[in-house]
Amino acid sequence: MLNLVLRVLGALACVWAAHAAGAPLSTAVEHPAAVGRATTFLQEQQGRLEWRAALAAARAGRFAPGSSPVLNFGIGAAPAWIHFTVDNPSKAVAQRRLSIETAWLDRIEVFVVQQGRLVAHRLAGDRLPYAAREVVGRYFVFDTVFAPGASDVLIRIETPDPMVIPLYLQSSEAAAARQTRQELSYGAVYGFLFALLVYNAILYASLGGARYISYAFYLAMFMLMNIAYTGHGYAWLWPESTVWQQWSNPVLMYLYGAAGLLFAVRFLDLGVFFPRVRRAVFVYSAAFGTALVAAVAAGRQVAALWVSFSFVFLFTGLMLALGLIAVRAGQKPARYFLIAALAAMVGAALTTLSTWGFVPHNAWTFRAVEVGMLFDATLLALALAYQFRVGQEQQLRAEQLAQLDPLTGLNNRRAFYGMTAAAWSNALRHAHATSVLLLDIDHFKQINDRYGHAEGDAVLKTVAGALKQSVRQGDVLARWGGEEFIVFLPETGLRDAALLAERLRVSIAALSVTGRVGTMAVTASIGVAERADHATLDSLIAAADACLFASKQQGRNRVTSGGQTRVAAA
Ligand code: GH3
Ligand code: MG
Ligand code: MG
Repeated sequence: MLNLVLRVLGALACVWAAHAAGAPLSTAVEHPAAVGRATTFLQEQQGRLEWRAALAAARAGRFAPGSSPVLNFGIGAAPAWIHFTVDNPSKAVAQRRLSIETAWLDRIEVFVVQQGRLVAHRLAGDRLPYAAREVVGRYFVFDTVFAPGASDVLIRIETPDPMVIPLYLQSSEAAAARQTRQELSYGAVYGFLFALLVYNAILYASLGGARYISYAFYLAMFMLMNIAYTGHGYAWLWPESTVWQQWSNPVLMYLYGAAGLLFAVRFLDLGVFFPRVRRAVFVYSAAFGTALVAAVAAGRQVAALWVSFSFVFLFTGLMLALGLIAVRAGQKPARYFLIAALAAMVGAALTTLSTWGFVPHNAWTFRAVEVGMLFDATLLALALAYQFRVGQEQQLRAEQLAQLDPLTGLNNRRAFYGMTAAAWSNALRHAHATSVLLLDIDHFKQINDRYGHAEGDAVLKTVAGALKQSVRQGDVLARWGGEEFIVFLPETGLRDAALLAERLRVSIAALSVTGRVGTMAVTASIGVAERADHATLDSLIAAADACLFASKQQGRNRVTSGGQTRVAAA
């Protein structure tokens, strides 16, 4: 165990020693990590240095030691010279792949000096067309031959963009393997996001709903921005457009932030719930947008970058704030939005800060925005699905409510027609027996007058409950209006319908409704009619109504069916 610890410590010490500032990088071993610590650097103060002067300054100790694996000079930095030595301990030449892995650097010059003699001088950078690259790839790669012994390497970098310099010196096999891993991971990220994007575009095409399309737009802008700053855009989409290559980063960063805010406005329904917040979001976006357009129009790249970086940095915090506001206002889907915004914010903040130079730049901090975005996109997709479900449930509930009588919970007249239409046409087609029963509470007005409207309501509810208990499955019971109820009886002839009506009459008469004022006696009159030669349901109902009228005429609390009246047994 101790042995293992000592070996690990030993290996770490070797790596540390190999990367001590100014220590030579040996071609005898692989250097899998960025070699910033093995370099020294100097930023030009007055005017351009020549390579001889730069080398002399480095040898005279006027270069500062690289204090992190990835050097970072921030946005709009003065041109920087970087120096390191390569030691080839063998007797044969050694080829190494030198790569500088920031796609947006404008102008890169590499000088290789052996025994005071310039043996290689190369120029690269994204101000040159993509096709001018000697090794085709997203990054700036120089295959360099090192003679036995020590060589000096000087790199001069000039760019208004964030001057981040991840510098690698590897065998071409190791470099290719690392590049393959990188491209695979980008493939996975883009594949995932692209699938979500297409899916939501399809949802928009089939369901409508601005939130789906604004989500798809947000994902598209993120991908475009990422494709631009990782150099994939220059490689795949605009290899000839050196001008767009210079402006694509700030412009696409801005569009990404603006698309995110647009999605937030739609998803959180800011226009409905928080119109003033929405206006503030638009004013904020418009102000930065105007500043960006002005910077681009004036050809001020550094200003444009500051505008976009500030916008995106504040954007992530703003998304969080919007989510918080909506959650506090009780919007349930906004909880997903909030967590999603948090993930995106942590990711974007880490990437922005690492690119800006405030936190160490490495594969995890630089690509944190992608990890955050994968969480963000997934959670937002869940949020959209959740919102869809809530919407559907609400709609279903609204439809149900529109069918029910709020007082008694029975079907209303509209639901009655909906539920009987099929049975009625079936009865007509096949000449099946069908009856309708219409029931009206007797002297209900008196109950209201004597005991009050609330007691009247209680009676209606009790009667409705008794009816519900007594009708058979398949019968359609509804509140026809006021204190009138209707029952549709499929497959039922007049005789059976009259028997059921009688049962209902008896059970209502047996009710003693207890209210605040004591018990009240309730009775009801009923009319029953059979389909017979009625061509429409309304005509059948009218016949039942006529029977009901007859029951009232003849003293109430009785059933009249098809013209025959059965007198109460009481
Ligand atoms: P009849 O025996 O001839 O049917 O007499 P009635 O008093 O029952 O009939 P009428 O049609 O004259 O009066 C019905 C009353 O029912 C009048 C109306 O105010 C009352 N009413 C209608 N809907 C409701 C309700 O939802 N709640 C209450 N409490 N009363 C209602
Ligand atoms: Mg009435
Ligand atoms: Mg009545």
